[in-house]
Amino acid sequence: MKPRDLGTTAQNTWCPGCGNFAILNAIKPVLAELDGAGLVPIENVVVVTGIGCHGKIADYLHLNSFYAIHGRAIPVATGIKLANPDLNVICFVGDGDAYAEGLDHLIFAAKRNVEITTIVHDNRVYGLTTGQYTPTSPSGFSGRSTPGGLEVSPINPLELIFASGGTFIARGYSNRIDLLKETMREAILHRGFAFLDVLQVCATFFNMYDLYNRRTYALEEHDPEDPVLAQERMREWDYNSEGPIPLGIFHRRAAPTFGDNFEDKNSKIPDMEGAVRRVLKGYI
Ligand code: SF4
Repeated sequence: MKPRDLGTTAQNTWCPGCGNFAILNAIKPVLAELDGAGLVPIENVVVVTGIGCHGKIADYLHLNSFYAIHGRAIPVATGIKLANPDLNVICFVGDGDAYAEGLDHLIFAAKRNVEITTIVHDNRVYGLTTGQYTPTSPSGFSGRSTPGGLEVSPINPLELIFASGGTFIARGYSNRIDLLKETMREAILHRGFAFLDVLQVCATFFNMYDLYNRRTYALEEHDPEDPVLAQERMREWDYNSEGPIPLGIFHRRAAPTFGDNFEDKNSKIPDMEGAVRRVLKGYI
């Protein structure tokens, strides 16, 4: 399989210069390589998206896919994984989608260590609705809903997932595609909840190329299994200042997954898998 085999003929409607192109162009070779190596058969990959510019990625990937409603990609992905543990489920979500509408689902997926990969297209703005602030917009952000400048500080999603018990926490940048591919690959291979926040530039409503190009750098000589160091590195950038902005894998640890827990308790919850299968019948 070649990466181009994962493309579709759907007309791409992202704006010129949008960072979503880089995420699309990164995931294709990663999946082709994992399939070729026999690590992740392509027929077992399911893509779930939320609502927003990012969600169109489902149209541009020749893969099993499911458009969830706004903020609900993660519970759909969780259900798919529980119904068929052989599937490799990748969620593409936006920052508004994941950190506002779907925040509770994100926290619970991390806390439960659901075995899915979540890739956040974090452009720090609602692009599809023409430029309102999201939970990761910096203070002072001037957009459609805050013409006088945003008065509150952003959340740091990496710290949020760390506090929620996340077992794989990483950050990428859409304009550093080799590092992004490497991080995506590790996220997909992680056994548990893999969280990857991608600084995906919205070229139209919040163009951060200049700052990110100057201030991002790859984490080196970092031990992601040391939780104290991991948190220190996550705090290096608070999504408000100019950086420096570290990229790569901040934290990684092994832990039982949500699916493991169900297996342990199968005798107490009869035919749980069957129940989920019936709910999702016709969708997977
Ligand atoms: Fe990309 Fe922003 Fe255009 Fe949406 S509005 S397609 S995020 S550049």
